[in-house]
Order: sequence, then structure tokens, then C-alpha cells
Amino acid sequence: MCTNKQDRAAQLIATRMADLTDRRRRAYERAEAALTTLRRTLDRIDRDEAELAAHQHDVVVLLRDKLGPARTVYHNADRPCGLARSKGFRAYFEAEARKGRPNLRRCGVCDWAPSPDSQAGAA
Ligand SMILES: [Zn+2]
Repeated sequence: MCTNKQDRAAQLIATRMADLTDRRRRAYERAEAALTTLRRTLDRIDRDEAELAAHQHDVVVLLRDKLGPARTVYHNADRPCGLARSKGFRAYFEAEARKGRPNLRRCGVCDWAPSPDSQAGAA
């Protein structure tokens, strides 16, 4: 009788230990998945930082928000013409503004003082 009681206790302990081992394994799996996500996020942030640093000498331009007629020009954020002084413009790096917008040109009215750093948009 005593042995039977001990067997049941041992069996219950073994079952619960297996559950605890399983919980421990799942906790590690969740932590590893979270760590993978964290590493990917930090890698993306590192890439974004490097990309941002590459814009250090870029001219900052103003591009009208997408509302209204098609955009054909962007303006110099440092010395904008009268048109770009109104609301509804957002600041971009020049290379960023031109990316994917092959028809976009510099505004002919804005003051684009010659600068070695502004050659990217002079084409
Ligand atoms: Zn302008």
C-alpha cells in the first residue's frame, strides 16, 4: 500500500516535471524568437543610421505634399522661392526626393547657390 502510494506520487511528479520541462523549453523558444526579432530590428536601425550619415552633405529640399497637380519641381529649403514658403511642403534630402521620381527637377526660381555638394541635383 505504501509502495502504491509512492508510485502514484512518483508518477505525478514525473508528469509535472515533464510539463515544467516543456514550459521551460517553450520559454526559451519565445526568448530566442524575440532575440532574433531584436537583432533584425537593430540591424535595420544600423543600416538606417549608415544611410542617414551618407546624406550629411546632401542639399535639403522642399517637396509639395501629394495633394493637387502632379509635382514637377522641388525647392531649395535654404533659399526657397515664394511658392515654397507656403504650407504643404515637406523636407527631404535631395537624393531622397529624386529617388523614384525621374521627372522631378529643381525649381528654376529658388536660389541654388553653387556648391560642390549640390551637384547630384544639377543634372
Ligand atoms: Zn522654388
